[in-house]
Amino acid sequence: MAAALNTPEEAVARIAYLSSDVVISVQPSLSVPSAYSSKLEELASSGLKCALSKETTEVQTVRQNADPLLSVYQPARSGKIVSVTTTSNTLITSIPHLYKLSNYPVVFHVSMQPAAFPDYSEITSIRQTGLILLQSESTQEAQDMAVAAHALALKSGKAVIHFFSTSSQTEVAEEDSALLERALDRAAASGFREKTVDSNNLYADDGVVAQTAQVGELTPVIPASGLVTPEPASITASTAPSTAGDSTQATSVTSASSVDLEVTSRPITSDDIFAQATSIFAVIKEVTGRSYSVFEYTGPQHAEHAVFVFGSTTQLFRDVLNNAPSGEYDKVGIISARLYRPWFGAHLPNVLPKSVSKIAVLEQIHRQTTRWGPLFLDLLTCLRTGPSVQGAPSVVAHKLGYINEETAPQALRGVVQNLRSESPIQNLSVGLENGPPEAIEAKPEQPGVEFAYMKILDQLFGSRLHVANSLDRPNAGISATIAASPEYGYGSLLARLEKRKSLVEKVEKLAKSSDFATPGATELLSKWLLVAEDETKSAEAAEELIQQLDKDGSKAAQALLEDKALFKKESRWLIGSDAWAYDLGNSGVHHVIASGKNINMLVIDSTPYSQRAAADAARRKKDIGLYAMNFGNAYVASVAVYSSYTQVLHAMLEADKFDGPSVVLAYLPYNKEDDSALTVMKETKTAVDIGYWPLYRYDPTAEERGADNFTLESERIKKELKEFLARENHLTQLVKRNPVFAANIAQSYGKEVRQQQKRNAKDAFAKLLDGLSGPPLTIVFASDGGNAQNLAKRLERRGKARGLKTLAMPMDEYPVEDLNNEENIVFISSTAGQGEFPMNGRSLWEEVKNSTDLDLATVNYSVFGLGDSHYWPRKQDKIYYNKPAKDLDRRLQEIGGKVLVEVGLGDDQDPDGYHTGYADWEAKLWKALGVDNVEGLADEPPPITNEDIKAASNYLRGTIEEGLADTSTLAISASDMQLTKFHGTYMQDDRDLRDERKAQGLEPAYAFMIRCRLPGGVATAQQWIQMDDISNAFGNKTMKLTTRQTFQFHGVVKYNLKNSMRAINKALLTTIAACGDVNRNVMCSSIPAQSAFHTAVHACAKRISDHLIPSTTAYHEIWLMDENDKKVQVAGDAVVDHEPLYGPTYLPRKFKVTIAVPPHNDTDVYAHDIGLIAIKNEDGTLAGFNVLIGGGMGVTHNNKKTYPRTGSHIGFAPPDKIHLVCEKVMLVQRDNGDRKDRKHARLKYTVDDMGVEVYKGKVEELLGWKLEETRPFHFDSNIDTFGWVKDETGLNHFTCFIENGRIEDTPEFQMKTGLRELAKIHKGQFRLTGNQHLIISNVADEDLPAIKDLMAKYKLDNYQYTGLRLSSSACVAFPTCGLAMAESERYLPVLISKVEGVLEEHGLRHDSVVMRMTGCPNGCARPWLAEIAFVGKAYGAYNMYLGGGYHGQRLNKLYRSSIKEEEILAIVRPLFKRYALEREEGERFGDFCIRIGIIAETTEGKAFHDNVAEEETE
Ligand code: SF4
Repeated sequence: MAAALNTPEEAVARIAYLSSDVVISVQPSLSVPSAYSSKLEELASSGLKCALSKETTEVQTVRQNADPLLSVYQPARSGKIVSVTTTSNTLITSIPHLYKLSNYPVVFHVSMQPAAFPDYSEITSIRQTGLILLQSESTQEAQDMAVAAHALALKSGKAVIHFFSTSSQTEVAEEDSALLERALDRAAASGFREKTVDSNNLYADDGVVAQTAQVGELTPVIPASGLVTPEPASITASTAPSTAGDSTQATSVTSASSVDLEVTSRPITSDDIFAQATSIFAVIKEVTGRSYSVFEYTGPQHAEHAVFVFGSTTQLFRDVLNNAPSGEYDKVGIISARLYRPWFGAHLPNVLPKSVSKIAVLEQIHRQTTRWGPLFLDLLTCLRTGPSVQGAPSVVAHKLGYINEETAPQALRGVVQNLRSESPIQNLSVGLENGPPEAIEAKPEQPGVEFAYMKILDQLFGSRLHVANSLDRPNAGISATIAASPEYGYGSLLARLEKRKSLVEKVEKLAKSSDFATPGATELLSKWLLVAEDETKSAEAAEELIQQLDKDGSKAAQALLEDKALFKKESRWLIGSDAWAYDLGNSGVHHVIASGKNINMLVIDSTPYSQRAAADAARRKKDIGLYAMNFGNAYVASVAVYSSYTQVLHAMLEADKFDGPSVVLAYLPYNKEDDSALTVMKETKTAVDIGYWPLYRYDPTAEERGADNFTLESERIKKELKEFLARENHLTQLVKRNPVFAANIAQSYGKEVRQQQKRNAKDAFAKLLDGLSGPPLTIVFASDGGNAQNLAKRLERRGKARGLKTLAMPMDEYPVEDLNNEENIVFISSTAGQGEFPMNGRSLWEEVKNSTDLDLATVNYSVFGLGDSHYWPRKQDKIYYNKPAKDLDRRLQEIGGKVLVEVGLGDDQDPDGYHTGYADWEAKLWKALGVDNVEGLADEPPPITNEDIKAASNYLRGTIEEGLADTSTLAISASDMQLTKFHGTYMQDDRDLRDERKAQGLEPAYAFMIRCRLPGGVATAQQWIQMDDISNAFGNKTMKLTTRQTFQFHGVVKYNLKNSMRAINKALLTTIAACGDVNRNVMCSSIPAQSAFHTAVHACAKRISDHLIPSTTAYHEIWLMDENDKKVQVAGDAVVDHEPLYGPTYLPRKFKVTIAVPPHNDTDVYAHDIGLIAIKNEDGTLAGFNVLIGGGMGVTHNNKKTYPRTGSHIGFAPPDKIHLVCEKVMLVQRDNGDRKDRKHARLKYTVDDMGVEVYKGKVEELLGWKLEETRPFHFDSNIDTFGWVKDETGLNHFTCFIENGRIEDTPEFQMKTGLRELAKIHKGQFRLTGNQHLIISNVADEDLPAIKDLMAKYKLDNYQYTGLRLSSSACVAFPTCGLAMAESERYLPVLISKVEGVLEEHGLRHDSVVMRMTGCPNGCARPWLAEIAFVGKAYGAYNMYLGGGYHGQRLNKLYRSSIKEEEILAIVRPLFKRYALEREEGERFGDFCIRIGIIAETTEGKAFHDNVAEEETE
């Protein structure tokens, strides 16, 4: 049995889907579905085909406020049968489109709004647009009329609006398939499909006229039509479409007539439409038994009175009539128009009994603006004019209010009584005028994410802010949709400006008058007049003045107080969406700009960059910024809060100050209103980076002040803007000032260009290869981490050595059309995500998968894949192992490829990883190619290792200097990348942008991370300001406080590197040895409560740091010397470098030292190469340090030879010798560490390989003395304690909670600005903690109030978070860290929010549980010491570890592998609940997990992989 349809919209959606090629589904917003959309989605996903084309119908979703009917042009012009599902409130703003679309066979299904009491004025307003208007009321009628609408559109070639009320919702069955079969004219449809209209214009007429074919003199017409662009004298039988342009049928018509009649086309007339509609109604009747006609009359044939209903309640009246006791309405009939336009008034007398003498017209129009309603006038015209006027019924107008089943009898009675009276009252109202409460129009909602900009406006302008079209402003009687439009806002702002002008004039007069009771009033009025146009001063003067006027109480004072809001100079804003950038909204924007008035517009554009890429040309938005700049009188800024918060502030302030129109275009891309901040940020970044959304400010008056009119704040701009600037003659200046910018804007992004580049590159290779003699071998690879690429390159080299013409290239650079012509081709691919191809292989795979042109009959191929058979723990996921290689192999066979060698599978789990499988496969390959026994193959040069790079670097110089000078790229060479680490900087690329840049043919967005050296994490307030300046001037405007107590800057581009380094050195800090194979930043407990002890311990940290610093002068030479210094040096003053401690090859790996002061293990003393535990004398002074060696975190997933390790005690040393102990430990490692395998090079492995005692012996040997016995100590925790403490000297310290160490401003929390303000008045220190938080240190009592005020103002004093959040910590990971496999810093806060509910519920809010996350197993946030940890394994997937010791003393253990959020939550939530219910007194979470047996205890590093909760088995 056919499924039931519950609402008219569902019934209509189904018919629209079955009768169209494209359905444009208009939704209130993308996250709020319409009443049609779920049905449409269901049909689309079921794969149901269109009844006409037998293809799947395309459903396009468009937002209601994005000028939805724009979406119709493109498909309609390209010959698609289009329908639209929408509501009546989109109609009026779409009128210009309706006129233009009236001659296309488009059907608009329009549900009347508000649903409970629809307003039919929306329909009467569009009655002249030339569209056919059909109406229905119930679900059944809606279904039938939907069919009729589609049939009529096809027959007539004209657009049809089918409008229907939704108040009656009875269930109906799916349509009878015979109905569509018979009603829809297939031939007409295919005729339309053949006709395309070549126009992109939205303003001029397309020249399309709906036509019908006519044979000779014959009428009536052949019901056939088509889209014809009339061409003079060409409309003949051969060109004129018969049944919708089907020329074969045209011929048959001609021949069937057997006479030589000419078939001509002529525009369709209303008579044609009448005939067509009548025949369609006849078909409906035949198939379903339900009858419809153009006018429908119910009632006796001898009726004297008739009620003509134009509204949603015809059926109610009919029911009353039918159920009325006999006699009451014996002579009353009900009439309605099924086909409202064209108006067939002339046919009405045929339907209406001749006996009718009076007709009541009931029009359901909410706000009638004319005396007589449109239907009343229609009726009057047809009945009271012309020959039949004699004896024609008289017409009585009524307003139809809200009625329901209960009130309908009374309403009808009222109407009939009025008709029966001798002189009926005109315009009588029937029913409730305002409708039921639920009939109030729903306000358009402001999407939640857009509040970011509103907040900034609020913060900047406070009570001065006046938003003219704010949704919460009361606008009596004005529809919310209208009130939000630019025209409305503009009008209301003009009124506001006028009002203020007259206030100023009034004040001018009154200031000279004696109308006031108090003497001060006139004086204050004059004072105010002087500053009335000054934003700040007028606000101050206004306050004083208002107080005075309040006191004064005179009539004059009271009159002025009526407008008291206007005393302040308001910041007047219109807030709009990107709907304003489409044609219809754009006209309003034009008015504002052209007016020259001082009005600010904030236009929030929310179209995601990725969506824009798919948008069709007709929907292209206007560039409001360019438009406004071309006007020349407007301030224009293009901003994006998720890219640069400060730029938004600047733009808004400048717009407010600018005396004239200002346009601030604000970007906030989202797909769904509840998109996460991370998604919005990523979209923003891509759009800004690629130049789709450039950040700039344009002030046409700046030149007068000697500044540039145009300031570009992002790297790239789009072509149109570039052209504008070139014309403005600014470009030359810009180019001169910033050559990199010039290079960027000259880039071409066209797809064709990229393809051409691919082709050229390959051809160039081919030419080169011509010189070689052997058979060709093409190697294409898809690689994420570089392994597949390395294999491919190696295979290429080795192939060449065997005399083959080898060529290796990434898959996405390979032109697929060459595949048929290859002789031998090899594919090498690693496995990404859920068994997908790596990014650079996806496009080729798609082409190979989907192409129908590939035939590899003459091609020999082989595939090698790299994967990890243990990667997916669940059985059902095992299919993902090496899936790309297997899929590709299968597909290549399908298309005829000949297998050279069976697909080879490299497995990370094999003894030598993927090399095991590879070696075997490669040997077979050479054999298959007949080059396995080649004699005299040269040995391959060993790969260049880090050790080689160091040795050849001349004490860390390499070619860094040359690399910095190379402006052709923002990158540096691979070997310099290794060397710059020693200088404290890493090259990275923004991974959020990688894919898009690749797609655009651009190099990755390279930028540098700079890390400072800050022993013990102690900085002065002045240094804080200097660091803040550096992040603003050169970095990405944020700072990271790291897990090793230092500052880190991200996003520093190459040409800013030197300046940043200099600025850091100017702040008396350095970056040398902050990274690299050297001793790095030395950490030290922050212990705010113990001032003297901190001073002593910190001094040791500083001494160790200074003692172990590399001696090379390369750092100074590269970063700090200027040209002049260098000349002096070259002139003979060159220093011959040497490294007394390190030697030319430095250490085998990085080296880390930390100091902890019991009972605080806030620096995680067990996690570092050297851990020092400060021991106190009885008198509280520093006695010395227990020394631990061999702690370390870095691990490689699935490589059990790597493991984290906690440090081992080797003894105790006094403070004055501790730096020497550190030196000697380092030297033993220098000489004994593994320099062959970097994965095995850390001190922890040396210690384990050598044994702790042996290592200790070597250290003591170098020292020449023995370490003392380890002294007792006790740790409580490794987390920070937040809030204020007083130390023993009376100074105060406040530990601020800085989530994951990120210092940044957001609209909600201006932490960065706040800390900067604090630094300006703070006289003490800023201490960075090992948990990435910040201590405002050494505040004297007398300075406390000011500091506390500022902290409160910027909410820096807030640490009211859950214990879990306060004890959490995450590394940077995406987007900057090149090693990251998953999100960390950006994701951990989100994850914590998702478990906090459980914590609250079970009383764990204040319990500290140490939770850490890192994006990869390198372990920067020391995850293996956390009680619960997540380590990134793949994007969105983490390994989960449990059982770490609360104060960092015990490693945790693998609990689950590769789990995603859903699984994480499913584990963590019940586990916390259990912890709350079953823990013992004071028991920590990590200990609890071990006690209840869900995880085994890890006793030492080497046991890390034993007894894991989940073995990664097959
Ligand atoms: S742990 Fe890995 S992902 Fe996180 S910052 Fe360190 S290297 Fe990058």
